[in-house]
Amino acid sequence: MKKRITIIGGSIAGLTSALILASAKNNELDFEINIIDEGKADLNAVAIYNVPLFPKGIIGKDIIAKTKEQVDSLLKVKYINGKINEISGDKGALKAIGENINLESDYIILATGASAFDIKGLGNIVKEHNLMNKPNKIRLEYKGRQEVKSGIYVAGIASGVTSMVTAAMGSASEAACAILSDIKGEIVVAHDTPTSRK
Ligand SMILES: Cc1cc2nc3c(=O)[nH]c(=O)nc-3n(C[C@H](O)[C@H](O)[C@H](O)COP(=O)(O)OP(=O)(O)OC[C@H]3O[C@@H](n4cnc5c(N)ncnc54)[C@H](O)[C@@H]3O)c2cc1C
Repeated sequence: MKKRITIIGGSIAGLTSALILASAKNNELDFEINIIDEGKADLNAVAIYNVPLFPKGIIGKDIIAKTKEQVDSLLKVKYINGKINEISGDKGALKAIGENINLESDYIILATGASAFDIKGLGNIVKEHNLMNKPNKIRLEYKGRQEVKSGIYVAGIASGVTSMVTAAMGSASEAACAILSDIKGEIVVAHDTPTSRK
């Protein structure tokens, strides 16, 4: 079985969700993942000293490049530069539409950050982000396991978590595991052991 996943936002949250999904590929389950990013990540502004195992002082573009390398070692993902303007359809046949972009997928992850959200088609889901110390920051409303609408999940600081890389990664892990669980119809986690890939 192959599931098509569109991830909107290719910063740390979008890439973390992709990494967890890629790591869950097995003999029964495969993924086609497209990541669309318009290049306005908060991560572009950082130098990181407070994330375990990240090299001290690593900057945003290097975090993105290294994480892409790690994802691609598990699954070939397609990266698209651009902006998604509209989402339509239902779980299993969701459409993400932008200029010269028209992707159909089973699931969508919104890893769009806290600066703005103007994607049409999802109703009035934009709320004030009340855990950030800057004005006009937003989050997206969801229910249950970060589900904005059936088949559409929010990840990263767009979900309303504190604006820290580790918090964005945690939220992105939850979105990916919620999708894995939805596919299987039971709780799924993506765990390895020292011998699981040997
Ligand atoms: C100056 C600064 C310093 C920071 N320092 C630290 C620090 O030291 N330690 C720490 O832990 N955290 C730090 N942070 C916070 C950290 O950068 C964020 O928590 C983290 O980047 C959030 O990741 P994210 O993937 O959720 O969102 P983002 O990094 O903001 O990424 C969202 C992505 O979605 C894309 N996007 C949005 N809408 C669309 C669309 N419609 N179509 C296509 N793409 C879209 C954007 O272009 C962007 O690339 C800092 C932040 C700033 C601004």
